[in-house]
Amino acid sequence: MSGTPDVTAYIDSLYNKENDEALARVLASIRERGMPEISVHPGYGRLITLLAASAGASAALEIGALGGYSGICILRGLAPDGMLTSLELQAEYAELARANVAAAGFGGRAEYRVGEALARLPELADEGKTFDFFFIDADKGNYPNYLDWALKLARPGAVIVADNTLLRGRITEEDSTSPSVRAMREFNERIATDPRLVSVILPAYDGLAVARVK
Ligand code: SAH
Ligand code: MG
Repeated sequence: MSGTPDVTAYIDSLYNKENDEALARVLASIRERGMPEISVHPGYGRLITLLAASAGASAALEIGALGGYSGICILRGLAPDGMLTSLELQAEYAELARANVAAAGFGGRAEYRVGEALARLPELADEGKTFDFFFIDADKGNYPNYLDWALKLARPGAVIVADNTLLRGRITEEDSTSPSVRAMREFNERIATDPRLVSVILPAYDGLAVARVK
């Protein structure tokens, strides 16, 4: 069998030559605590930095903090005085993310709000907050709701990024009764067809949706 060369392993090998202390610290801290090892793939982490920087973003909203890996990637791309707001269900995770983000040199530029993201989002709206970069990476069944909120809180030209939109291939199960699969299929369809968005869905790793609000 001739097989396709593993080009993602090749790309990873190029970047693994760099020693990224801040991100390595996040991954080690997650492992030490026995937390789920589901930080965004390093390749998409780099893309998040690049997209936030290209958009000239200064106010980012993340849904799902875990240990702060994606938070650091976002902050690296924001304008020098840019702020990250991050919503996280678990208090201990938010605490770890806060510590890791501070250790990466971004202390004072990230605000963590603990609890169900769907309970925190209306508070942001009530406070009149708007954002120009979004990273959706929490419970998959709520992705369509998170897209609604992102559109509500978006400034014109805002970039919306969402991780894991292919659900390890389960996304193609048209008749699935799994709530995550159904929700993610709805999310991807809306990303692809909403007239307010220009978008792409990248197939590498576990899938990444990238959209720009017109
Ligand atoms: N974005 C992180 C990984 C997030 S993993 C990174 O790449 O570094 C998903 C996170 O979403 C977990 O930390 C989990 O606790 C959180 N989460 C799950 N359900 C949630 C909810 N309903 N509201 C807020 N956060 C939630
Ligand atoms: Mg993810």
